[in-house]
Amino acid sequence: MEKYDFYFKKNFGQNFLIDGHVLNKIINGADIQEDELVIEIGPGVGGLTEAMAKRAGKVIAIEIDKSLIPILNEILSPYENVEIINADALKTDFKSIIENSGYKKAKLIANLPYYATTPIIMNMLEQRLPISSMTVMIQKEVAERMAAKPSTKSYGSLTLAVEYYSEVYLVANVPRNCFMPRPNVDSAVIRLDILNKPPVNVKNEELMFKIIKAAFGQRRKTLVNCLYNLSGLNFTKEEYADILKKINIQSDIRGENLSLTQFSELANALSEAEA
Ligand code: SAM
Repeated sequence: MEKYDFYFKKNFGQNFLIDGHVLNKIINGADIQEDELVIEIGPGVGGLTEAMAKRAGKVIAIEIDKSLIPILNEILSPYENVEIINADALKTDFKSIIENSGYKKAKLIANLPYYATTPIIMNMLEQRLPISSMTVMIQKEVAERMAAKPSTKSYGSLTLAVEYYSEVYLVANVPRNCFMPRPNVDSAVIRLDILNKPPVNVKNEELMFKIIKAAFGQRRKTLVNCLYNLSGLNFTKEEYADILKKINIQSDIRGENLSLTQFSELANALSEAEA
């Protein structure tokens, strides 16, 4: 790093993993096969990339920081199955990258920058890319939100969005001293196994996520009040209460107490009532 005059950039979330045990946990947790394509976001100085190159068919790594590219090219030069792309993962066309790779599917494996964790994961889930799993190191609190149960503090719109697209597994908890520079938060490695189809049947996906967003936007309010403030739907509070009753949900309930199945039933009932 000295040779290339590299300095850590906080705005890129550069906390590099310096613990080999954790690196092995990520690799084993992702269960990489030798005929598989791995997409990595943020290879940094290539520690994880190198370990994955030894196992996978091919690794395509997307790094935003131009100054890391010569370091990565040097460290990874012995590996012919690694491709480094200097780009912003939030603006990358992953569909084309996978299509042009010669592989049908990919696995995402990454130690993600904290600042962009949720947008990166949500973008990739919503695009329904040909990705079978995402094994990612993220801030521990965000991992807890993704795997939360209804009626808990961590439960929210992120939980439900992740549940709609995947099954979540905790691979490992990772304390902050496993990174350089040391961040102010602890991390966790989670694996999202992407579902072939959503676990619930919902007629209007967009409406369901709009309801979810409204329900958690003011989470201390009752669901009826949140729905009433939602633009685009024109029901009275009494009508909302009736619709909830019809699907066996108490009219004074808060959104944080509803499961994904109940949100999907509510979205379907509202679509029907609107028609
Ligand atoms: N993979 C390395 C490791 O495990 O030590 C580095 C992980 S570090 C937490 C995050 C990496 O993501 C950094 O290399 C950073 O420059 C890169 N990065 C930050 N924002 C990015 C973005 N929008 N697109 C691609 N890479 C990004």
